[in-house]
Amino acid sequence: MSELDHVGIAVPNLTEALALWRPITGGTESAPEDVPSNRVRVVFFTVGGTHIELLEPTEPGSPIARFLESRGAGVHHLAFHVPSVDRALQEVAERGGKLVDRVARPGARGRRVGFAHPTAFGGILVEFVEGP
Ligand code: ZN
Repeated sequence: MSELDHVGIAVPNLTEALALWRPITGGTESAPEDVPSNRVRVVFFTVGGTHIELLEPTEPGSPIARFLESRGAGVHHLAFHVPSVDRALQEVAERGGKLVDRVARPGARGRRVGFAHPTAFGGILVEFVEGP
């Protein structure tokens, strides 16, 4: 069984979102990090044994920018910690699930990540995260 690594939340403005989430998360945030492979800037809050990831688009037309245009700010994905992202993606494909990534790519915090398509998990975008 996989553990929940984080909940990803799409936000139009990271500064405003930080002010909103700081009080409830106790100010346990990481430094902002640009993730070029996803064209986002992210901040992670540590909340108990898991994290909340705020994602701000760095380019118009990027996946998070398109998500914000069509659905507005809100929960964007759930991320699960797995021993191998490639293997987790392969298992989804073997069950007939659609993938966004066929193999792992570089993600935030120096981790290897990969996304299954929302149709593979009943409308929820699922990210797999590998690493310590
Ligand atoms: Zn994420």
